[in-house]
Amino acid sequence: MSFVPPPSSPAGRFAPSPSGELHVGNLRTALLAWLFARSTDRLFLLRMEDLDRTAVGADAGQIADLTAVGVDWDPPVVYQSHRLEHYRDVVTELRDEGRTFECFCTRREILDAPSAPHAPQGAYPGTCRDLTDAQRAERRESGRPPAVRIRADTTAFTVTDLLHGEYTGMVDDFVIQRNDGTPAYNLAVVVDDAAQGIDQVVRGDDLLSSAPRQAWLATLLGATPPVYAHVPMVLNGNGIRLSKRDGAVTLGDLSADGVSPTTVLSHMAASLGLATRDEYVDPDLLLRRFDPDVLPRDPWVLTPEEWVE
Ligand code: GLU
Repeated sequence: MSFVPPPSSPAGRFAPSPSGELHVGNLRTALLAWLFARSTDRLFLLRMEDLDRTAVGADAGQIADLTAVGVDWDPPVVYQSHRLEHYRDVVTELRDEGRTFECFCTRREILDAPSAPHAPQGAYPGTCRDLTDAQRAERRESGRPPAVRIRADTTAFTVTDLLHGEYTGMVDDFVIQRNDGTPAYNLAVVVDDAAQGIDQVVRGDDLLSSAPRQAWLATLLGATPPVYAHVPMVLNGNGIRLSKRDGAVTLGDLSADGVSPTTVLSHMAASLGLATRDEYVDPDLLLRRFDPDVLPRDPWVLTPEEWVE
């Protein structure tokens, strides 16, 4: 297929959603993505995934915070909102090839539908996959605009993950364009990673189960799926995934408590086994020490209240 431009230099990336400030968990993932990319002589790219959930000025704040902990990238910063025509072209081409269908289902209808025979649990039940023209016209008249789903020709796909090994997960008829016309994350991420020459994806392990769908779609589009490293999350003191509700967890909050970005970097490095507690480090030193084989595989429980000097 013709969707994918010739590969540019191999690259890794960090792709935050500019919905607010980054917290220490996001910064640690960014640091890891930077270490994986730079230690393998890849470019490191920053992409703002701003197709939804954006907050005014959040991109600039995230850029400032990455800089403050010493994560740099190869410009320019790419904004997904500037690339809408590329996603639209891919959806159109897939549609013209008969690889998509319109889906009128609500979330509730999907949950309530009996699952299709042999379909993995949680897979789209196929309700709109084979509508007749008349049925489709009737649904359209009901006024609910359709989402666009890809017609999957498999139920599972295997990816290679540097921390999880060969990981096999579900592929179903997933949404590639939402019913408000916005490209779906699973489409945009694949189109962009291919277009930017990204062959190494390091991100939080909450996205591990999305990787098989994305890698399968990359293959369908004629691209080589990236190698993944889904890294452990950061948890709060209750063992729950860190969020901004957990108090002082952004660089801004921590600075107000007297904890500098350099101190945050030291704690992140210690949590990765790259420094001793309270050792002063800079990113180049971490790069020299970085060894993916000895990375901790367990989540990091954050206790920033212990960091105040
Ligand atoms: N934008 C996504 C997020 O912030 C990450 C996407 C990815 O790394 O593939 O959760």
